[in-house]
Amino acid sequence: MARETFALEEARKRGLRLEPYKDWDACKRSKSELSTEATQEAQGETFPKYVFQCVRCSTLAPLVNCSNCTGTSWGFCVVRGRGNGIYCTTCEIGKTRWECPECGTDNPVTKTLGHLEEERGGSLGPVVIAIIVIALLYYAFVAS
Ligand SMILES: [Zn+2]
Ligand SMILES: [Zn+2]
Repeated sequence: MARETFALEEARKRGLRLEPYKDWDACKRSKSELSTEATQEAQGETFPKYVFQCVRCSTLAPLVNCSNCTGTSWGFCVVRGRGNGIYCTTCEIGKTRWECPECGTDNPVTKTLGHLEEERGGSLGPVVIAIIVIALLYYAFVAS
């Protein structure tokens, strides 16, 4: 499974949304690991779970293996003198920036890292509306 860069629209068409990591203060405590092998299935298509979105061209680029040791797992960390970022859990090299394969832009990890999730609102909306309508009818009936 070696999917290269792709457009967010491609994932959206298959019912996925991009959830950016926002709370970078939490990275000091977070034990969660980001695997480069993690995937998100959507309507028969396989996408990488963890992706970066380029600030310039908006292309999505998958989180890739460590360039130093080929490790597949990253954790959240604070890189000394360079701020928040991620580190390879195997060789412990930290990284705070990545280069977009499409346009060559030097991107910050913190503003661009996210994960693909299934869009939930789509199927839940009608159910919520039905419950509200039933509740309104019930109260109208009880009140009369
Ligand atoms: Zn780019
Ligand atoms: Zn490494």
